[in-house]
Amino acid sequence: MIAIYVTVFAGVLGLAFGSFLNVCATRWPEEESSVKGRSHCRSCGRTLAWWENVPLASWLALRGHCRTCRASIGWRYPLVELAVGALWAFSTWHTFLEAPDLSTGNFTYDAATVLATGIARIAFLWILVALAVMDAENLWLPDRLTIPGIALGFALAFTRGGLCASMAFGGGFDEWRHYVALWEFYWFIGAVASAGGVLVIRLLYMMIRGQEGIGMGDVKLMAMIGGWLGVRCAVLTFAIGVILGTLFALVPLVLPSARAGNQSWRQQKLPFGTFLSIGAAVCAFWGVPLAAAYLSWAGF
Ligand SMILES: [Zn+2]
Repeated sequence: MIAIYVTVFAGVLGLAFGSFLNVCATRWPEEESSVKGRSHCRSCGRTLAWWENVPLASWLALRGHCRTCRASIGWRYPLVELAVGALWAFSTWHTFLEAPDLSTGNFTYDAATVLATGIARIAFLWILVALAVMDAENLWLPDRLTIPGIALGFALAFTRGGLCASMAFGGGFDEWRHYVALWEFYWFIGAVASAGGVLVIRLLYMMIRGQEGIGMGDVKLMAMIGGWLGVRCAVLTFAIGVILGTLFALVPLVLPSARAGNQSWRQQKLPFGTFLSIGAAVCAFWGVPLAAAYLSWAGF
């Protein structure tokens, strides 16, 4: 029962944090503060009433238009609110599925690790949605999101390593735990290796094509993903990102109407960070079984 309450609470909280994300995504590119100043219509400047700021409900009630100037309010607003709300609710539910002990308040080693990972995952998912939106809209992965993301990834690796070590020295030691503890410490290398790999691809691309294909923002994003998910899932995330990016780039080829208004589609830059973010969100839940399935299919 407690799992349902906490899941619903996380979903509602997610809607509110999705709403805050919208404020950041709208104001940061204009170099406005995301905390100072009341919300206002981007078109007529009128300050919004409290009931025009309710996530999801306000957009639906106003049918996506400003009450006074009738300027349309983009689809991005309700979509982002829904995305963060749904991801937070799903992540919370998933945490309880991973560690059924949590519902009974019985804090075993596994429950504690899953809980730490679950709480961190909520923060990561928020950062991923924010990066996906900002890269899609402005081809920009702000340092103020990727740098805290890297710090959080390292903190999580420390926590997992620390939990493993405390269990190992606190009596419940066995061989398996010892290797798990060692493995968790390798996650630091995961962050560095993931970022380094993308950095090499970036340099190769610049040498061959003579232009920037992968930005430094993507490199920092991969460092965050590597620290958070580990090497195997970071490689999987990169593969998903490349596949999604390729599919997206092929759309104008199969749909001529999509390129009619954009003559320079060959030079069009891809929001690679958006595809990496989607891949990372998938791997945050199913990365380990997906990677294991691929490795066994490939015969490793
Ligand atoms: Zn207006």
